[in-house]
Amino acid sequence: MNDCIFCKIINKEIPSNIVFENEKVIVFEDLAPVAPVHILIVPKKHMASAIDLESEEDFDYIKEVYKVAKIIAQEKEISGSGFRIVNNCGEDGGQTVKHIHFHLIGGRKLEGMA
Ligand code: 5GP
Ligand code: ZN
Repeated sequence: MNDCIFCKIINKEIPSNIVFENEKVIVFEDLAPVAPVHILIVPKKHMASAIDLESEEDFDYIKEVYKVAKIIAQEKEISGSGFRIVNNCGEDGGQTVKHIHFHLIGGRKLEGMA
């Protein structure tokens, strides 16, 4: 997807503060953090949103997201205090970037859900 900002980050066409990457996911700091830890975990395959996941291969990326989220939470020392993994889907879900991604948010007490 050549007009997708997260594909451009994956392809290193635009810079980001990369925390971790492997074959399936890239992890980088959110540009506008809402908490001391606010990291985005992004599958390296362009899939628009959770509703667009189709194949077993697609779901394998999501499995990897949660595996990596656990490791990053431990590295950032928020696994004990707690954190959120947030996936916004579609317009009402507040999704602004149409490449599926998971926010890992923590480092302070989080309130509310919406
Ligand atoms: P959404 O609202 O789609 O769930 O989340 C998109 C997130 O991507 C937002 O938190 C926003 O701050 C972040 N974001 C948007 N553009 C960029 C960018 O170019 N670089 C980085 N690092 N984060 C971005
Ligand atoms: Zn993309």
